[in-house]
Amino acid sequence: MPGEHRSAENEGVEVVLDMLRSEGNRVTTSRRLLIRCLIEAKSHLTAEEIADDLERRAPDIHLSTIYRNLDELERLGVVSHSHLGHGPATYHLSTKVHGHLVCEDCGVAIEAPDEIFSQLALEIMEKHDFTIDTHHFAVLGRCGPCQSLLASTDPASKETSR
Ligand SMILES: [Zn+2]
Ligand SMILES: [Zn+2]
Ligand SMILES: [Zn+2]
Repeated sequence: MPGEHRSAENEGVEVVLDMLRSEGNRVTTSRRLLIRCLIEAKSHLTAEEIADDLERRAPDIHLSTIYRNLDELERLGVVSHSHLGHGPATYHLSTKVHGHLVCEDCGVAIEAPDEIFSQLALEIMEKHDFTIDTHHFAVLGRCGPCQSLLASTDPASKETSR
């Protein structure tokens, strides 16, 4: 294909597409673009942002096709979503799935490796016979800079901190 160069991103797209093919699933233009969009994504994308990106790349693809394919890829286990706060869900490739720590003040999302939840997961399993899903929802709280900001602007928080 002219203009198509083999980059790490292209390789990644092919790996995911091969996975789909090997399970007998169709690989369509919109699925290919969708997966590429998620591989190239530098931040967390909502369904609407993904649809915008695909519409720019391929204006002939119908919006409903994009949303349907996002659903289908999620059902096939290739894509998964998580809720980072009060807004709409965001989408990841399932191979890039991870937990999130989200600041309620500034909204920053810190990616959290599964290991940091392992002790908590073990304890909840032992005490409550319950398996926690560390990916679906974010752990909300306050990031370092926002903690400092609060401490410097709110004298009451200094008094109560010790
Ligand atoms: Zn959900
Ligand atoms: Zn913050
Ligand atoms: Zn994430």
